[in-house]
Amino acid sequence: MTVNSVLVLGGGFTGLTSAIALALRGVENVTLVERAPAWARVGHGITVQGNALKVFQDIGVVDEILRRGFGADGVTLFHADGSVMMRLQTPKTGGEDLPATLGALRADVHEILVERALELGVKFRLGTQVVSFENHGDSVSVLLSDGTTEFWDLMIAADGIKSSTRPKLGITAERASSGLGIWRGVTNRLPEMTGGIAYPAPGDEGAYKVGYTAISATQCYVFVLCEPQRTPNDLPDWQEMKRLMEPFHGEFDWLRESLNESTYLNFQEIEWIFVEEPWHRGRVIALGEAVHAVPPLIAQGAAQCVEDALLIADYVTREGDLEAHLTEFQERRIPRIKGVVDASLQLAYWECHPGSPDAQPGRVMAQALAELVAAP
Ligand SMILES: Cc1cc2nc3c(=O)[nH]c(=O)nc-3n(C[C@H](O)[C@H](O)[C@H](O)COP(=O)(O)OP(=O)(O)OC[C@H]3O[C@@H](n4cnc5c(N)ncnc54)[C@H](O)[C@@H]3O)c2cc1C
Repeated sequence: MTVNSVLVLGGGFTGLTSAIALALRGVENVTLVERAPAWARVGHGITVQGNALKVFQDIGVVDEILRRGFGADGVTLFHADGSVMMRLQTPKTGGEDLPATLGALRADVHEILVERALELGVKFRLGTQVVSFENHGDSVSVLLSDGTTEFWDLMIAADGIKSSTRPKLGITAERASSGLGIWRGVTNRLPEMTGGIAYPAPGDEGAYKVGYTAISATQCYVFVLCEPQRTPNDLPDWQEMKRLMEPFHGEFDWLRESLNESTYLNFQEIEWIFVEEPWHRGRVIALGEAVHAVPPLIAQGAAQCVEDALLIADYVTREGDLEAHLTEFQERRIPRIKGVVDASLQLAYWECHPGSPDAQPGRVMAQALAELVAAP
């Protein structure tokens, strides 16, 4: 085996899935450092598509994710008045035995991954950061914020889109605005409300679109896609989200009225990055959103992250030249991720420029997902 000790930086979906996959492949010492002092149940819902469910199946957690989430075969598209435009089927990117897509609470998926990592003997160091690292041929020494310096066969930096490791690896690509902002909140739903997206009527201003994903038998996650900066007004957040949802009717009337001052919601600008220059230097490699993050318009961000995580464990536990394996790993990942990036950015452009004469969002979305049916 090429590596026996791996330090994983970051306890999001990429870091946790990498750590689990490495432990499953027999890497003796897998240690994960996370700057948060404790695992907190935070975050909204997430759409987990088939290819991400397939990864979760391979690492032994899919049954619990399916049990807690809400599986679906697609999403209904609505006009602003609440009438149905069409039903969009999601391709089964994880194979026939898994749902095409599933809505879940982020905190649930995270908790399941943490439990699985602990079960496999992954060591966690919470409240800890990497201060510096230095490559030494066949190892990397890492100074942590707890004052310890240790040598590792490999360090995986899964520290997210704002990665502080990325520039330290000499990567020059930088994150950029997608031109979009998003409000997200978790609220209740009626049993017949299984997932939808509504588009504004011509001339309507404010939201680019609104949508919701069922995340359990009783709950859903609602989003409003809009300009990247919050409208300057004095409204409390929940009232601002309601205001943006006002032009949308049917199921969205019910969802809007369910929002109140205690709804867990927030607003953020959506950024993106796609690093095509090498993700690794010596014994350090950046993965997941540290090297590719996209606007969530085909809901593939985390799916691509966990695909990275499962595959890296395969490559780094092969016999032979580790650096050559890391290069080969990236060469395999880039075309697949590029398809997701290109489609997501095209869709983001059309969201920001309503009325674009060449806009064909349905075709681009369907084609991008169809290409992911092939194994990663
Ligand atoms: C609005 C929005 C909606 C989305 N919806 C979906 C969706 O429906 N489906 C989907 O598949 N994807 C979606 N995504 C994308 C998905 O959320 C991300 O791709 C995924 O969560 C990234 O995981 P990650 O582990 O790479 O990064 P993160 O989740 O950012 O994890 C990085 C971790 O590293 C830690 N960290 C950072 N710096 C340090 C440091 N210096 N030291 C120690 N720890 C550190 C952080 O605390 C964090 O825990 C969405 C993204 C956005 C913005």
